[in-house]
Amino acid sequence: MKVYNTLSRKKEEFIPLEEGKVKMYVCGPTVYNLIHIGNARPMIVFDTVRRYMEYKGYEVNFVSNFTDVDDKIIKKAVEEGVSAQEVSQRYIAECKKDMAGMNVKPATTHPLATEEIDGMLEMISMLIEKGYAYPAADGTVYFRTRKFEEYGKLSHKNLDDLQAGHRDIKVTGEEKEDSLDFVLWKPKKEGEPYWESPWCQGRPGWHIECSVMSRKYLGEEIDIHAGGEDLIFPHHENEIAQSEACNGKLFAKYWLHNGFLNIDNKKMSKSLGNFFTVREISEKYDLQVLRFFMLSAHYRSPLNFSADLMEAAKSGLDRICNGAENLKHLSKNAQAAQMQGTEQGLWEESGAFVQKFEAAMDDDFNTADGISAIFELVKYINTNVDGNSSKELLDRLYQRLSELCNILGIIVERKEEILDEEVEKLIEERQAARKEKNFARADEIRGMLLEQGIILEDTREGVKWKRA
Ligand code: AMP
Ligand code: ZN
Repeated sequence: MKVYNTLSRKKEEFIPLEEGKVKMYVCGPTVYNLIHIGNARPMIVFDTVRRYMEYKGYEVNFVSNFTDVDDKIIKKAVEEGVSAQEVSQRYIAECKKDMAGMNVKPATTHPLATEEIDGMLEMISMLIEKGYAYPAADGTVYFRTRKFEEYGKLSHKNLDDLQAGHRDIKVTGEEKEDSLDFVLWKPKKEGEPYWESPWCQGRPGWHIECSVMSRKYLGEEIDIHAGGEDLIFPHHENEIAQSEACNGKLFAKYWLHNGFLNIDNKKMSKSLGNFFTVREISEKYDLQVLRFFMLSAHYRSPLNFSADLMEAAKSGLDRICNGAENLKHLSKNAQAAQMQGTEQGLWEESGAFVQKFEAAMDDDFNTADGISAIFELVKYINTNVDGNSSKELLDRLYQRLSELCNILGIIVERKEEILDEEVEKLIEERQAARKEKNFARADEIRGMLLEQGIILEDTREGVKWKRA
């Protein structure tokens, strides 16, 4: 399995630190609002990475934090006249609902920054002891960036270029030794949440939380650290500096970053105001469609969001689900139980699409090509099974198709709005009406079912139905 590592800017063979295990950390959202579909991209793509690793037999320890102390949360709390905790807890709960809708598995651990303050104080103290950090007179603690010699290795930035860039910016932290130094701990402002510390009553900087939570839940060295590409600099660069300076070990072996979700070819973001929340999308589409749309592109490529592309995703997903439904329907009515005649050959031949899928996913999680392999499998199924196929073949093919879809987090079984039995009963009633030549009633039933999103097809094998 090859993964693109931002650190080396190359695709590298994935070799876990410990055989059969993967330790993975994904930077999670800052919870001050409903998540937008840009935030959903890393959730969906790295959940898919996790699922594929699990399919390959790895035991994955997957940690993803919620940043629940931050300027934006405090601002929102002040606007609403409630506590910062109330705001963050509300949006964590909402975020979890959206994640469930997108079929993103809960992490092994979802730590909260506010519950990990002790670990942060400990790491900051160690960095001070080792000479990598220093408290300024006002109680702010800074990281001594130039002391960490490898600073810039992830973002491939040169310290002197960075310094030159900084000269134009007014340096607000007058107490800093160097304009490149960044904050580990900062003093509270009036009315803000704060914690006691040896330096001042205050709160942590953003970067230190991930270094601490990653170490606590996964250990000093991990396999994969991931997030959106905007996090490469400064967030991940600073995490590396803190963790490696403190622990004296390589922090993460592979750094994975997703490309941006754009709208009209501009980054979708809250500050630009050009965003859709996941909740808004869920009013129009099943969130499976959003997931399928996200995976239709390679995770490192930019992806433009548009109504047309969502419609295309919807019809693509329908094609797959219809294929699966067809198999279920045929299986229910199959005459032969065991595979027979040429069926063994068909079964073996269909394995080629699994190999194609795996080859795509082994190549840096190329979900776009993985989806093409699934489409090919569906086409193969549709052309090679019919009312004469055995139940065994039909069920095995269903398993094969749903297993591949499941790696992408796509559930092929449709949600049951109206119970199958109810549909079946109405179909029976319609058949009886037709026998009695009561075509008005038969048409009425067809119309009723259509209203519930059920489409009837009269075939030689009998009446088939599917959900629209
Ligand atoms: P934030 O809440 O801004 O810290 O973002 C949470 C995660 O969403 C980070 O990994 C970001 O990189 C990612 N993210 C934010 N906006 C986008 C976007 N438009 N496209 C892709 N990823 C994004
Ligand atoms: Zn982080």
